[in-house]
Order: sequence, then structure tokens, then C-alpha cells
Amino acid sequence: MGLLDGKRAAVFGVANEHSLAWAIARSFHEEGARVALSHAGTPFEKRVRPLAERIGSELVFPCDVREDGAIVEAANRVGEAWGRLDILVHSIAFAERSDLQGRFVDTGREGFRTALEVSVYSLVALARAFEGLMGPGAILTLTYIGSRRVVPNYNVMGVAKAALEASVRYLAHDLGRSGIRVNAISAGPVRTLSAAGVRGFRDMLRHHAEVAPLRRNVSAEEVARGALYLCSDLASGVTGEVLYVDAGYHVLAR
Ligand code: NAP
Repeated sequence: MGLLDGKRAAVFGVANEHSLAWAIARSFHEEGARVALSHAGTPFEKRVRPLAERIGSELVFPCDVREDGAIVEAANRVGEAWGRLDILVHSIAFAERSDLQGRFVDTGREGFRTALEVSVYSLVALARAFEGLMGPGAILTLTYIGSRRVVPNYNVMGVAKAALEASVRYLAHDLGRSGIRVNAISAGPVRTLSAAGVRGFRDMLRHHAEVAPLRRNVSAEEVARGALYLCSDLASGVTGEVLYVDAGYHVLAR
């Protein structure tokens, strides 16, 4: 018996096999879920298709979350294929590389808007589009401690993650009536494509491994196990929560 037997999950944000979304999709598959994968658009499809095949994913579709029409179309695709959805994973973030270095105070209007639109508003828009297909169900997003503490170079993405975590609480309140739980995992640093865009990311990894209570970094698989917990019935009473999967780093004062 798998923890997700009979469940249908849509995972947004697989870029390649290092993506946190990919580790999550694999763990859901191993626990018995049928998994749909979404990618950012046609140029990215060739990276995602082979991964989808590895987990027998019958549904693979594009969805650039900057476009409302693409989000509605994604919900239609899932609705037509499955008629319902139990789990939605939002593992999407983007900021211009120039905004992930230097001083936060220098963030321009356009860079601020882009980071917040792609990394935060997309969760709200996806939740609204899929609400009618869900319930009861679980929505999960990925955040980082830069939402609460100043992490050099994380800058506008820290502000976006603060807004994302607040959105989790508001969405949990709105959607709780339909039995939809909304939670986030705050992951420690993991080497991925997006992470590589943050200047000094290697130093972040080194520092984290030195000082975190477990004296190491976390793996994508450990993040995926947290996702499994939050999206399965094991967490049936949990919503509006941010679960830290960061080797304990968040308890430190430094
Ligand atoms: P990743 O593999 O690069 O995943 C980020 C995903 O966002 C990619 O699949 C990317 O698609 C997608 N994306 C960007 N713009 C998009 C758009 N307009 N429409 C649709 N998708 C779009 O990196 P990751 O580290 O796994 O990131 C996943 C989540 O975890 C992010 O929210 C990130 O902030 C969070 N997180 C990461 C870490 C870490 O250290 N890695 C720590 C804490 C939290 P394309 O690449 O195909 O454009």
C-alpha cells in the first residue's frame, strides 16, 4: 500500500532531473499516485518528456504561468483527462539574474513585478483554476528562509517568498471550506538550475553545511519526503503551515 494510492497529482516546475519538483514527482509516483507534469513551454518539453516517461506520466503539458489562458488550459487538460485532482505542487520561481546580486534597494519596478508575478501570483492563479477539480485535496509550494531573514543576494526573491508564505495562509483560509489544504516547504539550499542563478550560492551551501544543527545540507529526496507528508493523509489536519526541511538551519540566530 502506497501513501498516495489512487491519488492524482499535478506537478508544476520540473526543469530537469535536479529540480525539487522532479524529486517530488518521483516520490509521489513511488507511493502510488498518477502524476501529471507541467513545463514552462515548448522549448522545455524535450527535457521533461523523458522524465515523464520514467514515471509513467500520461499527462505532460505546457503552462507558462505568466499567461492566464495557459493556466486555464492546464486545468482543462487535467479536468478532461482525470475529472478531478487531489494534489497540486507549485515549484516555480523566477527573478532576473541581475536582481539576485548586489543591493536589494536597487531592484527596479520591472524586476520586482516579474519576481512577484512568476513566483507568487502563479500560486494564487493555479489554486483558483484548479479549485473546482479539487476538494478535498492538497496544494503545496516551495519557499526559502530568505522570506524571514536577510540572505545576501537573495534580495527580491526573499520578498517574493514572504508574499508566497502569506499567500499560503490566505489560500488555506479560503480553500479550507472545500477541504483543500495549502502548505509550504521551506527547503534548505539544494543545487538546482534556479539556485545557480543566485550569486554566491556555493558559499550559501558551504555555510549551511557548517552551521546547520545537522551539520550538513539536505537532499532533494528529503524535501520530497516532506512533500509526501504534507500532501498525504498523514497531514490531514495540517494547513496554512510552513514546514522546514533544512537540517534545522532556521533555528539559528546567526
Ligand atoms: P528549478 O529546477 O530551476 O525549478 C524552477 C522551475 O520554475 C523551473 O521548472 C522553471 O521552468 C519554472 N518556471 C520559471 N518561470 C516559469 C514560468 N513563467 N512558467 C512556468 N514555470 C516557470 O529549481 P528548484 O530549485 O527546483 O526550484 C523550485 C522551487 O523551490 C522554487 O520555488 C524555488 O524558489 C524553491 N526553493 C529552492 C531551493 C534550492 O536551494 N534549490 C531552496 C528553497 C526553495 P524552466 O526552467 O523550464 O523555465
